[in-house]
Amino acid sequence: MPWFKRADKGIHTPTEQKKETPDGLWYKCPECKTVTSMAEHRKNLNTCVQCDYHDRIGSKEYFAILFDNNEFTELDADMTSADPLDFVDTKAYPQRIAATQKAIGLKDAVRTAQGKINGQDLTIACMDFAFIGGSMGSVVGEKIARAIDHARKNRTPFLMISKSGGARMMEAGFSLMQMAKTSARLALLSEAKLPYISMLTDPTTGGVTASYAMLGDFNISEPGALIGFAGPRVIKETIGKDLPKGFQSAEFVLEHGFLDFIVDRKQLKSKLGELLSMVLLPEDVTTAPKVKKATKVS
Ligand SMILES: [Zn+2]
Repeated sequence: MPWFKRADKGIHTPTEQKKETPDGLWYKCPECKTVTSMAEHRKNLNTCVQCDYHDRIGSKEYFAILFDNNEFTELDADMTSADPLDFVDTKAYPQRIAATQKAIGLKDAVRTAQGKINGQDLTIACMDFAFIGGSMGSVVGEKIARAIDHARKNRTPFLMISKSGGARMMEAGFSLMQMAKTSARLALLSEAKLPYISMLTDPTTGGVTASYAMLGDFNISEPGALIGFAGPRVIKETIGKDLPKGFQSAEFVLEHGFLDFIVDRKQLKSKLGELLSMVLLPEDVTTAPKVKKATKVS
């Protein structure tokens, strides 16, 4: 019998004798497999030092990147979901919510806050994919709607950072109603002449793409983000054709005219600050030097 053949089946090392590298010290890029220290990866705002792959991050990281000195006032921080349909799959919905809240320390799939970005006031709603796939239920819709109201009341621009698998199945029709509610609120924001920037991050799909995520005065994204409505498999089966290369990537969506620009996370704050300073608010217009109206030449 060869010496390398296992005599006994299975692994017999007791857990306490197993030697493992401590978790969270190293980061391996799923794209180019480069290994860097977690500290280096975080310093690079969770993008790969080698190939610039943008790792998924949540509201905590985006707030830290965008708000000056990471100072902000969170809005509706304690809103949690009810269970209007008594929904049960492998778990009852309230149990699933409670377990997720406990595991990741978030109340639902979106956080909203007001703060300053390069000294300019801004209201941000940022989704968290870690919370049931960033699914849009009543709490997500309501918090976004209220954040938009807050932006109107305080006359700040509004930034939405989307990251979602779409509507929340456990709230069925109630989820779908959030699309109309948020879209209507955005129409009011537009009437109030306040700018709305929508950033679609990896992934933005389903009902979120079909409502607030695509309604920005500026629709922007991060490199390589998946943006779509239905998944590629469903589309392929429906149209019976192979899909083009890079289908549903941010670059593909930009090329087809649905995005205004793609911004590297490391330039996100400076680019947004620049954009906001260009988009003058109505009260700023009164203090800005008056531009003579061009006379019409007939
Ligand atoms: Zn990489």
